[in-house]
Amino acid sequence: MESYEQFLEEMKTKLRDVVPEPEIYIKAEIAYEINRLKQERNAVILGHNYMEPALFHSIPDYVGDSLGLSRIAAQTDKDIIVFCGVRFMAETAKILNPEKTVLLPAARAGCSLAESITAGDVRRLREQFPGVPVVSYVNTYADVKAESDVCCTSSNAAAVVESLGVDTVIFLPDEYLARNVARETGKHIIFPTKSGWKADATLDYQLIGWHGRCEVHEQFTVQDIEDIRAEYPDVVILAHPECSPEVVAASDFSGSTSAMIRYVQDVDAPRYLLLTECAMGDNIAAANPEKAMLRLCRVRCPHMNEITLEDTLAALQKTQYVIEVPEEIRLRALRAVERMIAIG
Ligand code: SF4
Repeated sequence: MESYEQFLEEMKTKLRDVVPEPEIYIKAEIAYEINRLKQERNAVILGHNYMEPALFHSIPDYVGDSLGLSRIAAQTDKDIIVFCGVRFMAETAKILNPEKTVLLPAARAGCSLAESITAGDVRRLREQFPGVPVVSYVNTYADVKAESDVCCTSSNAAAVVESLGVDTVIFLPDEYLARNVARETGKHIIFPTKSGWKADATLDYQLIGWHGRCEVHEQFTVQDIEDIRAEYPDVVILAHPECSPEVVAASDFSGSTSAMIRYVQDVDAPRYLLLTECAMGDNIAAANPEKAMLRLCRVRCPHMNEITLEDTLAALQKTQYVIEVPEEIRLRALRAVERMIAIG
């Protein structure tokens, strides 16, 4: 393990434009202890792209989006997986690794999408639309995955829908992602409501959606884009597909968090604006100091924000909070997750 002085210097270099220096000193001490404990306990730390910059750039062995981290979780040989992300992600790691200890540093780190739908809702949709396959976004809890045929992430949602080779698909629970996938695949979409479970023969049922939304991405508006373009006409705007279809259409590029990172690395532009969770903008800025990143940073995910370096240290010290998934649910959810990973 490198010396503390070396580690501190590396953190100062990476974070100098995004974290005040006094804060880097405090966080470097905690991060160094986490990394020591991680080795001692034979643990791996997975860090989602939305982690705050000091955590993101100091302790994860792997960083990425939900799909990338699921793949890594499926392959790890460590005894403990510490998931610096939200609960549904840690659950996915547990679904893939039943014999390992999976820790989520903050017990309450949820997600507005995951909380928008229950397993009972999926069962009712299946009764309403018999024989129609169910695609669930990975941002769902294990019992919803267990009721699904296949999961998807924002990076492979269209490919998963296409892979089913059928005309009608139930796509849950993100309304905006469903609309964006419908546009990409040429499928139409309808939204059943709790009071209107009866099928209407006049509606087109190629894609059946739900009314969940990401409380972060739903906040971006076309007006935001117009305002930024008025001030910076040469800006390239990247939008996450959990944004509304109108926002996606008004942007220059739409893709998962990993696709946005690749875009900024590969495409030269005078300046970029990322319409996504604001810590990710900081993380990309720290990794690409030569690129000009504009900030529209009023939106921090309150659930991702629950995960701190202090909590991650406590998680390793006290082996908390242990994620459990009942075996009967895990086995059914595993099928849907494995199908997602296989589609890539
Ligand atoms: S950013 Fe949105 S989708 Fe991601 S965890 Fe937060 S609420 Fe859920």
